[in-house]
Amino acid sequence: MTTTVEAEPRTETVELEIRDLHATVEGKQILKGIDLTVRQGETHALMGPNGSGKSTLANVLMGRPGYVVTGGEVRFKGEEILGLTPDQRAARGLFLAMQYPVEVPGVSVVNFLRTAYKAVKGEDISALGFRKHMKEKMELLGVEDEMVRRYVNQGFSGGEKKKNEILQLAVLEPAIAILDETDSGLDIDSLKAVATGVEKLIGPSLGVLVITHYQRILNYIHPDFVHVMMGGRIVKEGGPELATELEDKGYEGIRQEVGLSAEEAGDDAASPGGSKA
Ligand code: ADP
Ligand code: MG
Repeated sequence: MTTTVEAEPRTETVELEIRDLHATVEGKQILKGIDLTVRQGETHALMGPNGSGKSTLANVLMGRPGYVVTGGEVRFKGEEILGLTPDQRAARGLFLAMQYPVEVPGVSVVNFLRTAYKAVKGEDISALGFRKHMKEKMELLGVEDEMVRRYVNQGFSGGEKKKNEILQLAVLEPAIAILDETDSGLDIDSLKAVATGVEKLIGPSLGVLVITHYQRILNYIHPDFVHVMMGGRIVKEGGPELATELEDKGYEGIRQEVGLSAEEAGDDAASPGGSKA
């Protein structure tokens, strides 16, 4: 009887589990107990005013230096990952698109992606094999040949940088992706192009945590769950309707509803119209 159980293929859903996470930056307590679970196949939106700690959470999840975890745990595929390097986390299938992507002078997008692919997948793919894989993803996302021949992010417009991040996401095929303000600084056409690209990648094998200040990206990427963060805590959670509610009330309205002082809520939840700026 037990043999049939053992013979079953492992098709467990990958989970990113964040439990009571506390973190400091430069000695300042930013995350004050975050609980959040993102599963493969789910789309979550994490929304919050500037300074609420969204990027800090993303950076802690990827293991960026300078962010000190002072409590709680983060499990990925059941394994505690806080002791792992960013590369090790990426190799396990966790992906982070940065709010401010870095330039890599002298390295073309295609070479960068191939190197990243080899590092993350641990596969030595041929140049030709990789081209084919990348071409498929470029077609899906509508990325031009010209872009992948250029040096990574050098002279890229805001829209091109974000498009490049989404191409990276498509090529690396992670189980869970964290997109930090993928919409920031984009005009409406670029936003639409980037967001519909993400929407195309969403499926049973990908879980996404979309971090955003604004509701507008959620017109294209439809979240199953919405979490509102203020002052380093998740103060309200719900389904897609919460994003609409937030749009109507603003962060200020939510702040008052949950009974946080302006000071506790973060930098701009307090300023009039801050959430709608
Ligand atoms: P959000 O992404 O929600 O706008 P952040 O996580 O960027 O918020 O910032 C939360 C708080 O942490 C802010 O008060 C910010 O000034 C502080 N902070 C974030 N990163 C750093 C850093 N590298 N050095 C100093 N303070 C930081
Ligand atoms: Mg941020």
